[in-house]
Amino acid sequence: ITGTPGRTDSEALATLHRIFGYDAFRGEQEEVIEHVVAGGDAVVLMPTGGGKSLCYQIPALVRPGTGVVVSPLIALMQDQVDALRALGVRAGFMNSTQDFDERRVVEAEFLSGELDLLYLAPERLRLDSSLELLSRGKISVFAIDEAHCVSQWGHDFRPDYLALSLLGERWPDVPRIALTATATHATHQEITQRLNMPAARHFVASFDRPNIQYRVVPKADPKKQLLAFLREEHAGDAGIVYCLSRNSVEKTAEFLAGNGIAAVPYHAGLDSGTRAAHQSRFLREEGLVVCATIAFGMGIDKPDVRFVAHLDLPKSIEGYYQETGRAGRDGLPSTAWMAYGLNDVIQQRKLIQSGEGDEAFRRRAGAHLDSMLALCETAQCRRGQLLNYFGQEPDLTGCGNCDTCLTPPETWDGTVAAQKVLSTVVRLQRERGQKFGAVQIVDILLGKRTGKVIQFDHDQLSVFGIGQDLVEGEWRGVVRQLLAQGLLAVEGEYGTLVLTEASGEVLRREREVPLRKEPKKPATSKASGS
Ligand code: ADP
Ligand code: ZN
Repeated sequence: ITGTPGRTDSEALATLHRIFGYDAFRGEQEEVIEHVVAGGDAVVLMPTGGGKSLCYQIPALVRPGTGVVVSPLIALMQDQVDALRALGVRAGFMNSTQDFDERRVVEAEFLSGELDLLYLAPERLRLDSSLELLSRGKISVFAIDEAHCVSQWGHDFRPDYLALSLLGERWPDVPRIALTATATHATHQEITQRLNMPAARHFVASFDRPNIQYRVVPKADPKKQLLAFLREEHAGDAGIVYCLSRNSVEKTAEFLAGNGIAAVPYHAGLDSGTRAAHQSRFLREEGLVVCATIAFGMGIDKPDVRFVAHLDLPKSIEGYYQETGRAGRDGLPSTAWMAYGLNDVIQQRKLIQSGEGDEAFRRRAGAHLDSMLALCETAQCRRGQLLNYFGQEPDLTGCGNCDTCLTPPETWDGTVAAQKVLSTVVRLQRERGQKFGAVQIVDILLGKRTGKVIQFDHDQLSVFGIGQDLVEGEWRGVVRQLLAQGLLAVEGEYGTLVLTEASGEVLRREREVPLRKEPKKPATSKASGS
């Protein structure tokens, strides 16, 4: 029981018992709620599943007037409102999915003070008509959910959020609470500044999710590796498998189903009826696996998700943390498992370069990817890296519940190997002006006389066959780690490998290159692709 004695008769606590049926506040909830109920502004950083909703729902119920909740998750508003109504809370929402009459009903309820909570999409709130409507009613609190959407540096920027800075000017007496699960120190500052909340009190909950075990395995034959992981550790468990493309979502779901695992696909290309059906099966049934693009999971509240698996590399640590955070909300042991390989790095770099967006956008996306790669390649505690990224103090002795803590990876001096790769790139790029990707480089190092090697006379190069001390999978690991360390770069749509400024330091022997040892036999598969 967390409540401070003497406060246990507070209205907030009474509301927690009476409406929500919970015994006690969790973590920082009580402090946040007391602060907002008293009229203060708050910026709340709490991991997914931490219990952010109550932080604004209870103040909305305790203070006179309607709590206005700004949320970008339009698809979830109906569910949220239904759930609140089932508890006897007078809730409504306004968004583009409603027709005129439905909206009129909600407007009338708001104006006559019959709503405790009103959910609004941010694009609604920009409209003069909405602002005018709000000024005719009584507002108890403004809650800005998913507040990181205001950050232009974040991974989920939504321009409509910028307009929310005017709430404080228009309603100086109404407390505001901004909430997010994904924020680095920089994003945190940006939220405060852009939402114009200089006087807000900051509540930062720990981002540690000690019951989640973080693991990254080298990608070989990802579907088979996944199947083995599920059979060995999560038979009959509910979980989410994230893939980058709709196609691989479909294929993975079919593959699992074909191997006796209850699995369904979920992506934006499916019709909404199928999506809704799969989502509700996931919530209701035990032990269903959903294979999904990142479209799935936002706002899904299923406490017993036992694993989250990534078959492709997430674009940022924020994304990875949010997605893996859907596991183990009930606090029981859960696994965040990811298969990651060279092609992930190349593919993501290509995506960034060939994608839309200006130079600044590309640089930002590149920086997000770099942090993600550093997490994948680290020989240190993964939890420590995650917490560090979010500006929190990790336990320096390691967490004991991630793969690198459980089986510390061996490292080796990869300087010579790195020089061999980089010299090959030099031969092709600088001396011959040719563009080749990782496959050709590795074939040359291994001394393979493939059609493409013969065609370009690459068996005549001095570096041909100088890499027979390592096997193909190990060379791919070297290339992958060089890419992750910024000692090699990818260019153009074919994934040409090119040197970076830092490559020169390695070639001139001014810099050592420590590398992680690749496991000789990636668990559960003999394939060596990827
Ligand atoms: P977030 O929005 O931070 O991801 P939610 O507000 O959806 O988290 O809460 C996550 C889950 O925890 C929900 O099922 C919620 O009902 C539950 N929860 C929140 N606060 C408490 C509490 N004080 N006691 C028990 N359960 C709680
Ligand atoms: Zn660890």
